Amino acid sequence: MICAKCGAQMDQVDKNTFTGRVIREYACRKCGHTDWEDDGAALWQVLHDARAEDKAEAAAHAAANAAAPQPGVSQPVLQPPASLWQRLTRLFREKK
Ligand SMILES: [Zn+2]
Repeated sequence: MICAKCGAQMDQVDKNTFTGRVIREYACRKCGHTDWEDDGAALWQVLHDARAEDKAEAAAHAAANAAAPQPGVSQPVLQPPASLWQRLTRLFREKK
């Protein structure tokens, strides 16, 4: 990082990741000017996000597998829409 005040090369003096982002702090050896830069998401934050995505993906896969017919696995016979409708309307009829 170049010092904004005198143009000298600055030294990295600190690195913070507690906010979930890498914040690098620099100090100029020549004039003492300090500055910092945001170096993007911290590694642990990236890993955390990746795990969350893995879980979401796994859930999506599980849902897709549940919905898709599996070769060699017998599927339960689907109820025709009419019988479902009859069961629903019977519930309403019984309440009256
Ligand atoms: Zn400087």
